Amino acid sequence: MKITILTMFPDSFSSISSFPVIKRAMDRGLLELVIKDIKDYGGGSFRHIDDSPCGGGVGMILRIDTLMRALSDSVTPSSHTVLLSPKGSVYNQKKAREFSTLNDLVLVSGHYEGVDRRFEDHVDEMVSIGDYILTGGELPAFVIVDSISRLLKGTIREGATEDESHENGLLEYPQYTKPVDWNGEKVPEILLSGNHKAIDEWRETQALLDTKRLRPDLFEKHILTEREKKLLEKAGELSS
Ligand code: SAM
Repeated sequence: MKITILTMFPDSFSSISSFPVIKRAMDRGLLELVIKDIKDYGGGSFRHIDDSPCGGGVGMILRIDTLMRALSDSVTPSSHTVLLSPKGSVYNQKKAREFSTLNDLVLVSGHYEGVDRRFEDHVDEMVSIGDYILTGGELPAFVIVDSISRLLKGTIREGATEDESHENGLLEYPQYTKPVDWNGEKVPEILLSGNHKAIDEWRETQALLDTKRLRPDLFEKHILTEREKKLLEKAGELSS
């Protein structure tokens, strides 16, 4: 998979290939990263890439002509183009999975006061990484590259990503490691029992209970299977 990032600050990605999982995906030929400097596409003798807002106001807006030159130089007929924007739909694990199946993804990072509204009509979609304002799209691009690279088949151990939080609308079950008794805080006995069927059942139940406790918004949206209803009844959480 190829990911192209259009940015005004290419140097901010200089450390990206040192992140172990991203590095592994690149070393194994599963991920190719191309970082392009929007500044190389500025027009006119001053190579302007931004300008003041029409109608007045503070800050600078990235120009559509600059952005379109950068975009046209980066897309192929199979590219999926994404503008990183706080106005976009909020990124989640489902979107990460969707993006991880693409061959060619182009991420456009804005900066300053944002980008000319007309540019929004020239990308396939807008994505936000949350309801807050960052100074630029570089961190969102980083987040997206990181979340995708671990999903590329062959990057990390098969099956390692399937049970994780947000994969099926629930949080992951609680995890423990040694020491099994730390100052009286003990690992649940069932995890030491060697009874894998019972451990699986316990984990499924705990995932449901943790989601209900920590993310009631997700729990409310989750449609319980018959098995999950039975597990919750057994845990005394649902009346039959
Ligand atoms: N004036 C814009 C607004 O109110 O919607 C915010 C511009 S922001 C300071 C500059 C750039 O940072 C945006 O164009 C976008 O590329 C990026 N950005 C900021 N917050 C973001 C978020 N939550 N998700 C994705 N990109 C974001």
